[in-house]
Order: sequence, then C-alpha cells, then structure tokens
Amino acid sequence: MTDISQLIEDAIKQLESVSDSARLDVELLLCATLKKDHSFLRAWPEHELNQQQLKSFQEKLKQRLEGEPIAHILGERGFWSLNLTVTADTLIPRPDTERLVELALDIIPETAQWKILDLGTGTGAIALSLAKEKPNCFITATDQSFAALNIAKQNALKNQISNIEFIQSDWFEELENKQFNMIVSNPPYIKESDPHLNQGDVRFEPRSALTSGADGLDDIRRIIKGSLEYLNKGGALLIEHGYDQADEVCNLLKASHFTKVSDFKDDNDNPRVAIGYIQ
Ligand code: GLN
Repeated sequence: MTDISQLIEDAIKQLESVSDSARLDVELLLCATLKKDHSFLRAWPEHELNQQQLKSFQEKLKQRLEGEPIAHILGERGFWSLNLTVTADTLIPRPDTERLVELALDIIPETAQWKILDLGTGTGAIALSLAKEKPNCFITATDQSFAALNIAKQNALKNQISNIEFIQSDWFEELENKQFNMIVSNPPYIKESDPHLNQGDVRFEPRSALTSGADGLDDIRRIIKGSLEYLNKGGALLIEHGYDQADEVCNLLKASHFTKVSDFKDDNDNPRVAIGYIQ
C-alpha cells in the first residue's frame, strides 16, 4: 500500500524532468483521482489509496510523463469563476486571458445592456466570464471550429449561462449586419516559425488556435479591420496579443483610426491586451 505523501514524492521525482510544475501537477492529478480537494491531501498525508485509485492515478501520471497537458488529462480547467470543459479541439484557457476579462469588465458600465462579441471563443472562456458577470449584457461568441463551438456550448450549459449565442464563423464572415458595443478576442498570435510551438502544452493544442502567419499578426489585422464595421460609435475593441507585439498592435489600431489606444500588462508584467475605441 502507498500513502498520499509517499505517492506525491515518488511522482514528483518522475515528473520533474518533464514539467516545471511537477508538485502542482501531481497534486491536481491526485485530487482528481480521489475526487477530493487540496486540503484533503494536506490533512490526510497517511491516507492510503486502494488498488483502483492507484491504477487510475498511475495512468494519469503516465499521460503527463508523455507531455499531455494537465487540462487535457483532467478534461477541465478553471478560468475566472468558471469550470470549463477542455479538449484537444480548444485552446487551454490561460490566466493571461483573465486580464482581458478584467479590463473588459472595468469598461462595461454597471447596468449596461451591451451587445458584446467574442471572436474565436474556443472553450468560451472570455465570453462566458463576461456573460456571467454582466447578466444584462448579451454575448455573441464565434469560432470557425464546429468542435470548439460545441465545447463552448457545453460550457454554457454546465455553468448555467444563457445570455449568450454561438455562431460558427470565420471571424466576421457569418455575422451579417449585427452591431456591438464591445468586441473582445484572444486570437491566434504566435509566429509560425516560433520554436516554442514544439515545447510544453502547446504541442497538444490546435495549431489553428495558436499561429497566425509569419509575424503572428494576420488574424489581428483582420479583426481590427472588421471591427471598424461591426462596432457602434464609441465601441471598444480589446485584443490579447503576444508579449512583444504591443507596439505593432497599437500602431495597427491607430492606423485604423481607433482612439484612446492603450496597452495593458498581464500579471507577469508582460504587455498583453491592447484597447482602442471607435469615434
Ligand atoms: N478565446 C479562447 C481563450 O481565450 C480561445 C482563444 C484561441 O483559441 N486562440 O481561451
């Protein structure tokens, strides 16, 4: 029999060479196996796993040792106040993107009944967070991937969020003559030649959700151009971008005559979200 503390230490030793967050990973896998939260691991270090639990934990650990992201092994990821289903068809929601949600919430007036568009919704992370925090607003969430959109719909049901619609669309293509007070997006923005694409979790995420041409800005260019047509007067556009793309994205916004253009850092102090307004 193996107790929790011994199991954790053994698993960390195995995982250290593969993951920068070995302890956290092991604890998350163990919590999922035991269907308990972190406090249980602390309170009962001598608790012993039965054969079935041990087998299930070892299967999960093996997947992680092969590089599989924790969010895929567990099939979910916490984002904002939501628990989101995640599959290989979607990007894994990142804490960086919570910064965009925070900035959007700061802009939306308390009781506003805004129409908000989330382009490339993936799991629905941004759209569902805004919909939950702003029940008077109505969110349109798009993705070109039918599979991703299905996950986002499941996430709306799972989190009991109904002030939202889902449209399969390549950026603005299927939006007809809709108009919005705000457009938000965490589009693909990685350069196609970026060596990081062969490292860590991104290896298991859809390429279409990650890369965007030689300089990583192809989709951001399309979004900025399209937003001119789909934003109401005074409307805001919020775009997440790479840590080294702030100047380029702000310049693109200014070139399209967006006003009050500014850029905001994420919690790791990297430039991450550009905001501009339509006159
Ligand atoms: N909007 C989703 C997220 O932020 C998906 C983004 C994407 O696939 N590029 O997680």
